[in-house]
Amino acid sequence: MYLGAHLSISQGYRSAVTAALEIGGNTFQFFTRNPRGGRAKKIDSRDVEQSIKLCQSFGFGPLIGHAPYTINLASPTERTREFAIMALKEDLVRIKSVGAAYLAVHPGSHVGDGIDRGLTRIIEGLNRVFSDLDLPALDGVMLLLEGMAGEGSEIGNLFEQLNCIRRGIKYQDRVGVILDTCHLYAAGYDIKNNLNQVLESFDRAVGLEHLKAFHINDSKYPLGSRRDRHANLGEGYLGLDFFIKFIRHPLIQELPLILETPGDITVYANEIAFLRSAIKRDQ
Ligand code: FE
Ligand code: FE
Ligand code: ZN
Repeated sequence: MYLGAHLSISQGYRSAVTAALEIGGNTFQFFTRNPRGGRAKKIDSRDVEQSIKLCQSFGFGPLIGHAPYTINLASPTERTREFAIMALKEDLVRIKSVGAAYLAVHPGSHVGDGIDRGLTRIIEGLNRVFSDLDLPALDGVMLLLEGMAGEGSEIGNLFEQLNCIRRGIKYQDRVGVILDTCHLYAAGYDIKNNLNQVLESFDRAVGLEHLKAFHINDSKYPLGSRRDRHANLGEGYLGLDFFIKFIRHPLIQELPLILETPGDITVYANEIAFLRSAIKRDQ
Protein backbone atom coordinates (compact mmCIF):
# COMPACT_ATOMS: atom_id res chain seq x y z
CA MET A 1 0.00 0.00 0.00
CA TYR A 2 1.16 3.53 -0.76
CA LEU A 3 0.98 6.00 2.10
CA GLY A 4 2.53 9.42 2.42
CA ALA A 5 1.98 13.07 3.29
CA HIS A 6 2.13 16.47 1.71
CA LEU A 7 5.78 17.45 2.07
CA SER A 8 7.89 20.49 1.27
CA ILE A 9 10.28 20.44 -1.67
CA SER A 10 11.96 23.67 -0.55
CA GLN A 11 15.15 21.64 0.10
CA GLY A 12 14.74 19.71 -3.13
CA TYR A 13 13.03 16.50 -4.21
CA ARG A 14 15.65 14.18 -2.79
CA SER A 15 15.17 15.59 0.69
CA ALA A 16 11.39 15.25 0.32
CA VAL A 17 11.89 11.56 -0.49
CA THR A 18 14.08 11.24 2.61
CA ALA A 19 11.38 12.94 4.70
CA ALA A 20 8.77 10.57 3.25
CA LEU A 21 10.94 7.62 4.30
CA GLU A 22 11.41 9.08 7.79
CA ILE A 23 7.66 9.16 8.39
CA GLY A 24 7.25 5.59 7.12
CA GLY A 25 5.86 6.66 3.78
CA ASN A 26 6.34 5.32 0.29
CA THR A 27 4.82 8.20 -1.68
CA PHE A 28 4.27 11.92 -1.10
CA GLN A 29 2.66 15.05 -2.47
CA PHE A 30 4.32 18.42 -3.05
CA PHE A 31 3.33 21.86 -4.32
CA THR A 32 4.43 22.38 -7.90
CA ARG A 33 4.94 26.08 -7.15
CA ASN A 34 4.26 28.62 -4.44
CA PRO A 35 0.70 27.67 -3.34
CA ARG A 36 -0.48 31.23 -2.76
CA GLY A 37 1.63 33.04 -5.31
CA GLY A 38 2.36 30.91 -8.29
CA ARG A 39 6.08 31.14 -8.89
CA ALA A 40 7.93 27.92 -9.54
CA LYS A 41 11.50 27.04 -8.62
CA LYS A 42 13.95 25.90 -11.26
CA ILE A 43 14.46 22.16 -11.37
CA ASP A 44 17.87 20.85 -10.33
CA SER A 45 18.33 17.84 -12.60
CA ARG A 46 20.89 16.13 -10.35
CA ASP A 47 18.56 16.43 -7.36
CA VAL A 48 15.70 14.98 -9.44
CA GLU A 49 17.85 12.12 -10.74
CA GLN A 50 18.80 11.15 -7.18
CA SER A 51 15.22 11.49 -6.02
CA ILE A 52 13.92 9.20 -8.78
CA LYS A 53 16.58 6.60 -7.96
CA LEU A 54 15.69 6.69 -4.27
CA CYS A 55 11.99 6.31 -5.03
CA GLN A 56 12.73 3.32 -7.24
CA SER A 57 14.95 1.59 -4.74
CA PHE A 58 12.38 1.98 -1.95
CA GLY A 59 9.46 0.93 -4.14
CA PHE A 60 7.59 4.23 -3.99
CA GLY A 61 4.13 4.54 -5.45
CA PRO A 62 3.04 7.35 -7.78
CA LEU A 63 4.02 10.86 -6.59
CA ILE A 64 1.50 13.68 -6.70
CA GLY A 65 2.12 17.33 -7.46
CA HIS A 66 -0.51 19.77 -6.21
CA ALA A 67 -1.21 22.88 -8.28
CA PRO A 68 -1.29 26.22 -6.41
CA TYR A 69 -4.53 27.51 -4.87
CA THR A 70 -4.36 30.61 -7.06
CA ILE A 71 -5.30 28.52 -10.09
CA ASN A 72 -8.93 29.12 -11.04
CA LEU A 73 -10.01 27.84 -14.43
CA ALA A 74 -13.62 28.80 -13.63
CA SER A 75 -12.87 32.46 -12.95
CA PRO A 76 -14.93 35.10 -14.77
CA THR A 77 -11.67 37.11 -15.00
CA GLU A 78 -9.77 36.34 -18.18
CA ARG A 79 -6.35 37.10 -16.73
CA THR A 80 -6.95 34.61 -13.90
CA ARG A 81 -7.98 31.92 -16.39
CA GLU A 82 -4.97 32.61 -18.60
CA PHE A 83 -2.65 32.25 -15.62
CA ALA A 84 -4.35 28.97 -14.71
CA ILE A 85 -3.92 27.56 -18.22
CA MET A 86 -0.28 28.63 -18.43
CA ALA A 87 0.55 27.26 -14.97
CA LEU A 88 -1.19 23.92 -15.57
CA LYS A 89 0.67 23.41 -18.86
CA GLU A 90 3.98 24.16 -17.18
CA ASP A 91 3.14 21.99 -14.19
CA LEU A 92 2.19 18.95 -16.26
CA VAL A 93 5.57 19.18 -17.96
CA ARG A 94 7.22 19.65 -14.56
CA ILE A 95 5.42 16.61 -13.11
CA LYS A 96 6.81 14.48 -15.90
CA SER A 97 10.36 15.77 -15.52
CA VAL A 98 10.47 15.12 -11.77
CA GLY A 99 9.10 11.60 -12.13
CA ALA A 100 5.65 12.23 -10.65
CA ALA A 101 2.48 10.71 -12.09
CA TYR A 102 -0.32 13.02 -11.06
CA LEU A 103 -1.12 16.71 -10.91
CA ALA A 104 -3.93 17.42 -8.42
CA VAL A 105 -5.92 20.57 -9.12
CA HIS A 106 -8.96 22.22 -7.57
CA PRO A 107 -11.56 22.56 -10.35
CA GLY A 108 -12.20 26.23 -9.57
CA SER A 109 -14.67 28.76 -8.18
CA HIS A 110 -17.25 30.56 -10.30
CA VAL A 111 -17.13 33.63 -8.02
CA GLY A 112 -20.84 34.37 -8.38
CA ASP A 113 -21.09 33.77 -12.11
CA GLY A 114 -22.97 30.47 -11.68
CA ILE A 115 -22.03 26.81 -11.72
CA ASP A 116 -22.89 26.21 -15.38
CA ARG A 117 -20.67 29.01 -16.63
CA GLY A 118 -17.94 27.86 -14.28
CA LEU A 119 -18.14 24.30 -15.58
CA THR A 120 -17.99 25.50 -19.18
CA ARG A 121 -14.91 27.61 -18.44
CA ILE A 122 -13.15 24.73 -16.71
CA ILE A 123 -13.82 22.45 -19.70
CA GLU A 124 -12.64 25.08 -22.19
CA GLY A 125 -9.55 25.77 -20.10
CA LEU A 126 -8.58 22.11 -19.80
CA ASN A 127 -9.08 21.57 -23.51
CA ARG A 128 -6.65 24.41 -24.15
CA VAL A 129 -4.15 23.03 -21.62
CA PHE A 130 -4.03 19.64 -23.31
CA SER A 131 -4.31 20.80 -26.92
CA ASP A 132 -1.20 22.96 -26.44
CA LEU A 133 0.90 20.15 -24.98
CA ASP A 134 2.99 17.48 -26.65
CA LEU A 135 0.93 14.64 -25.17
CA PRO A 136 3.07 11.67 -26.28
CA ALA A 137 5.99 13.31 -24.43
CA LEU A 138 3.81 13.39 -21.30
CA ASP A 139 2.99 9.71 -21.39
CA GLY A 140 1.87 8.40 -18.00
CA VAL A 141 1.03 11.83 -16.60
CA MET A 142 -2.52 12.62 -15.52
CA LEU A 143 -4.35 15.63 -14.19
CA LEU A 144 -6.56 14.81 -11.20
CA LEU A 145 -9.60 16.94 -10.42
CA GLU A 146 -9.98 17.19 -6.66
CA GLY A 147 -13.38 16.69 -5.07
CA MET A 148 -14.04 19.81 -2.98
CA ALA A 149 -15.90 20.74 0.22
CA GLY A 150 -18.01 23.29 -1.64
CA GLU A 151 -16.90 26.40 0.23
CA GLY A 152 -18.11 29.67 -1.25
CA SER A 153 -18.56 29.25 -4.99
CA GLU A 154 -16.26 26.24 -5.26
CA ILE A 155 -17.09 23.80 -8.05
CA GLY A 156 -16.45 20.08 -7.70
CA ASN A 157 -18.15 19.25 -4.40
CA LEU A 158 -20.63 17.03 -6.25
CA PHE A 159 -19.58 13.88 -8.10
CA GLU A 160 -21.83 14.90 -11.00
CA GLN A 161 -19.80 18.09 -11.47
CA LEU A 162 -16.51 16.19 -11.53
CA ASN A 163 -18.02 13.87 -14.12
CA CYS A 164 -19.38 16.76 -16.18
CA ILE A 165 -15.85 18.21 -16.42
CA ARG A 166 -14.22 14.86 -17.22
CA ARG A 167 -16.80 13.92 -19.81
CA GLY A 168 -16.80 17.41 -21.29
CA ILE A 169 -13.18 17.50 -22.33
CA LYS A 170 -11.54 15.95 -25.36
CA TYR A 171 -8.69 14.39 -23.39
CA GLN A 172 -10.58 12.16 -20.96
CA ASP A 173 -7.82 9.58 -20.74
CA ARG A 174 -5.57 12.31 -19.23
CA VAL A 175 -8.00 13.32 -16.49
CA GLY A 176 -8.86 11.41 -13.33
CA VAL A 177 -10.18 12.28 -9.87
CA ILE A 178 -8.63 12.60 -6.42
CA LEU A 179 -10.96 12.56 -3.41
CA ASP A 180 -10.32 13.96 0.07
CA THR A 181 -11.99 12.49 3.17
CA CYS A 182 -12.39 15.92 4.78
CA HIS A 183 -13.85 17.45 1.62
CA LEU A 184 -16.24 14.53 1.07
CA TYR A 185 -17.65 14.76 4.58
CA ALA A 186 -17.92 18.55 4.52
CA ALA A 187 -19.59 18.31 1.10
CA GLY A 188 -22.29 16.11 2.65
CA TYR A 189 -21.14 12.62 1.65
CA ASP A 190 -21.45 10.56 4.82
CA ILE A 191 -18.36 8.37 4.47
CA LYS A 192 -18.33 7.94 8.24
CA ASN A 193 -21.54 5.91 8.31
CA ASN A 194 -21.96 4.89 4.66
CA LEU A 195 -18.55 4.56 3.03
CA ASN A 196 -19.72 1.88 0.62
CA GLN A 197 -22.77 3.83 -0.50
CA VAL A 198 -20.64 6.91 -1.14
CA LEU A 199 -18.18 4.87 -3.20
CA GLU A 200 -21.09 3.32 -5.09
CA SER A 201 -22.55 6.70 -5.87
CA PHE A 202 -19.12 7.85 -7.06
CA ASP A 203 -19.00 4.78 -9.26
CA ARG A 204 -22.39 5.55 -10.76
CA ALA A 205 -21.62 9.24 -11.32
CA VAL A 206 -17.97 9.11 -12.41
CA GLY A 207 -16.72 5.53 -12.43
CA LEU A 208 -14.35 4.13 -9.80
CA GLU A 209 -11.78 3.39 -12.51
CA HIS A 210 -11.20 7.16 -12.70
CA LEU A 211 -10.46 7.51 -8.98
CA LYS A 212 -6.66 7.62 -8.77
CA ALA A 213 -5.75 8.80 -5.27
CA PHE A 214 -7.08 9.97 -1.89
CA HIS A 215 -6.22 12.75 0.55
CA ILE A 216 -6.76 11.56 4.11
CA ASN A 217 -7.70 14.23 6.59
CA ASP A 218 -10.08 14.45 9.51
CA SER A 219 -12.60 17.30 9.36
CA LYS A 220 -12.89 20.18 11.84
CA TYR A 221 -16.49 20.77 10.74
CA PRO A 222 -19.48 18.44 10.60
CA LEU A 223 -21.17 16.60 7.74
CA GLY A 224 -22.46 18.94 5.06
CA SER A 225 -20.87 22.05 6.63
CA ARG A 226 -19.18 22.86 3.30
CA ARG A 227 -16.18 24.08 5.27
CA ASP A 228 -12.72 22.94 4.28
CA ARG A 229 -10.70 22.69 7.48
CA HIS A 230 -8.45 19.67 7.89
CA ALA A 231 -7.86 18.11 11.31
CA ASN A 232 -5.33 15.52 12.44
CA LEU A 233 -6.72 11.97 12.32
CA GLY A 234 -8.96 11.45 15.36
CA GLU A 235 -9.22 15.17 16.13
CA GLY A 236 -12.21 15.91 13.93
CA TYR A 237 -15.72 14.74 13.13
CA LEU A 238 -14.58 11.62 11.24
CA GLY A 239 -12.68 10.07 14.15
CA LEU A 240 -10.20 7.21 14.43
CA ASP A 241 -12.80 4.44 14.06
CA PHE A 242 -13.66 5.81 10.64
CA PHE A 243 -10.03 5.78 9.49
CA ILE A 244 -9.61 2.19 10.68
CA LYS A 245 -12.63 1.19 8.59
CA PHE A 246 -11.44 3.32 5.69
CA ILE A 247 -7.92 1.92 5.52
CA ARG A 248 -9.22 -1.64 5.69
CA HIS A 249 -11.38 -1.14 2.64
CA PRO A 250 -9.91 -3.18 -0.25
CA LEU A 251 -10.71 -0.50 -2.80
CA ILE A 252 -8.96 2.20 -0.78
CA GLN A 253 -5.86 0.07 -0.29
CA GLU A 254 -5.19 0.13 -4.02
CA LEU A 255 -4.83 3.93 -4.14
CA PRO A 256 -1.98 6.23 -3.09
CA LEU A 257 -3.10 7.88 0.17
CA ILE A 258 -1.76 11.28 1.15
CA LEU A 259 -2.07 12.99 4.54
CA GLU A 260 -2.72 16.73 4.46
CA THR A 261 -3.34 17.01 8.18
CA PRO A 262 -2.13 20.14 10.00
CA GLY A 263 0.40 18.03 11.89
CA ASP A 264 4.16 18.22 11.54
CA ILE A 265 6.54 15.40 10.58
CA THR A 266 6.08 13.66 13.96
CA VAL A 267 2.29 13.69 13.61
CA TYR A 268 2.56 12.29 10.06
CA ALA A 269 4.83 9.50 11.29
CA ASN A 270 2.31 8.60 14.01
CA GLU A 271 -0.62 8.76 11.61
CA ILE A 272 1.08 6.53 9.06
CA ALA A 273 2.06 4.05 11.78
CA PHE A 274 -1.54 4.09 13.03
CA LEU A 275 -2.92 3.45 9.53
CA ARG A 276 -0.48 0.64 8.82
CA SER A 277 -1.24 -1.05 12.15
CA ALA A 278 -5.00 -0.66 11.57
CA ILE A 279 -4.69 -2.82 8.45
CA LYS A 280 -3.01 -5.63 10.34
CA ARG A 281 -5.26 -5.49 13.39
CA ASP A 282 -7.83 -8.27 13.81
CA GLN A 283 -11.44 -7.14 13.52
FE1 FE B 1 -6.26 20.17 -2.58
FE1 FE C 1 -7.00 17.75 -0.36
ZN1 ZN D 1 -8.85 20.83 1.88
